Amino acid sequence: MFRQAKWDEPLIFELSKPGRVGYTLPKPIEDINIEIPEKLRRKSRLDLPELSEPEIVKHYTRLSEMNYGVDSGIYPLGSCTMKYNPKINEEVADHPGVAYIHPYQDERTIQGALRIMWELEQWLKEITGMDRFTLQPAAGANGEFTGVSIIRAYHLDRGETQRDEILVPDSAHGTNPASAAMAGFKVVEIPSNENGTVDLEALESAVSERTAGLMLTNPNTLGIFEDEIVEIAEIIHRAGGLLYYDGANLNAVLGKVRPGDMGFDIVHLNLHKTFSTPHGGGGPGSGPVGVKDFLKDFLPVPLVDYDGEHYYLDYDVPKSIGKVKELYGNFAVIVRALTYLKIMGRESLREASEIAVLNANYLTKKLKGTRGYELPGKELRKHETVFSAEPMKKETGVRALDVAKRLLDFGMHAPTIYFPLIVHEALMIEPTETVSKEELDAYVDVLKGISEEAYSNPEIIKSAPHNTAIRRVDDVLAAKKPIISWRMYRELKEKGEIDY
Ligand SMILES: *Cc1c(COP(=O)(O)O)cnc(C)c1O
Repeated sequence: MFRQAKWDEPLIFELSKPGRVGYTLPKPIEDINIEIPEKLRRKSRLDLPELSEPEIVKHYTRLSEMNYGVDSGIYPLGSCTMKYNPKINEEVADHPGVAYIHPYQDERTIQGALRIMWELEQWLKEITGMDRFTLQPAAGANGEFTGVSIIRAYHLDRGETQRDEILVPDSAHGTNPASAAMAGFKVVEIPSNENGTVDLEALESAVSERTAGLMLTNPNTLGIFEDEIVEIAEIIHRAGGLLYYDGANLNAVLGKVRPGDMGFDIVHLNLHKTFSTPHGGGGPGSGPVGVKDFLKDFLPVPLVDYDGEHYYLDYDVPKSIGKVKELYGNFAVIVRALTYLKIMGRESLREASEIAVLNANYLTKKLKGTRGYELPGKELRKHETVFSAEPMKKETGVRALDVAKRLLDFGMHAPTIYFPLIVHEALMIEPTETVSKEELDAYVDVLKGISEEAYSNPEIIKSAPHNTAIRRVDDVLAAKKPIISWRMYRELKEKGEIDY
């Protein structure tokens, strides 16, 4: 019988049986110890587990089956763009010419690596309508910090020291206000209107000679396109501020519209979202920042340049904000993104956006009207959709969190929940272009089934998940007493403090 992996799987040391081997090594060279000083020699045997090769393979395969990833099934985590990662990306990133070079090597010996960076920059310029990019930032948030630091440097350079406010809509990703605050700005929140887009009147009254800039996501975190973007850009520029584009989720607009043409001065992209690359669990990512010409002297150093014959590192950036990440950023992610772009090509990128948008809207239409779920804002979505489980919570006590947990019982990843903050009991679903119609249908069927359960047998949802290696965890206990090693787990279990 298939054995589902459990949280308390034995450790590999506990599976060990003396004398079992999973390898054959050549005979040791006689007297190898002769050159090794006595005090450095091992006194006891190395404490390694002893297992056969099939036992090792089964153990780690079982552990890997406790996990869920983009290769397991639908992973519609809104705002995260968890799309399929073509395996050729891994092959290219693993190529010895890419994997075995060192960042301190002489420029002449890493022409290929510099070319990869330079070429990626050309693609990103074309896609966004910006004039110059740095590939240095390690992720989206690092890109934002780089971008707002450039805004700061720009105003200081012009002697406009009073510009100490960054405007951020209330639907923004949490990293936006955090990055602005880290760069020393005061954050001013701009409310959304009933359509779920920026309230122009509120924006008008918020701008002043203290405005340094506005950080905007378009389409915003509700998946709604800010169709008054030209007016928004005018308001900000008239006030002397700069317009910053949070392009973490460019999946909706590739080949359709460009932030540079919408009036944005600075943009960051998340290569680890829109341009494939495995992410989650903290990285590694890449958050390139692009700027219009008038800001290029503020970019981090070094930039990668090409003189028609050689690629080289350019440290001559007069007003540079300095470095934001060591060396050249996460190079392997840069390689994957360029591989993805080259394999897709112009037409397929546009098609990817079209299918991503189609999928989000298909799901919206199919789920809309289901008891307990409500659709806030405009119906037409871009790459992602946000439902509210507020009616379900009011009528049955089942919360968005419970819906998310119950989805796991059906072998499906939960959507993002409780974001954006302006939607109560938010379920933020982003299918991406890489799921099939069948997967979308199955997802909606399960969400509809959960709605029926909520009104007939809410307890089964509130106590979910029931079919996973780890059942419902106590959020408060998990935060107060995080179990971060098997020893802690064993001790708590022996004391009877946990029952799983
Ligand atoms: C993911 C995301 C970010 C932050 O990107 P990280 O790489 O996680 O730092 C910022 N803004 C939006 C809209 C995002 O979806």
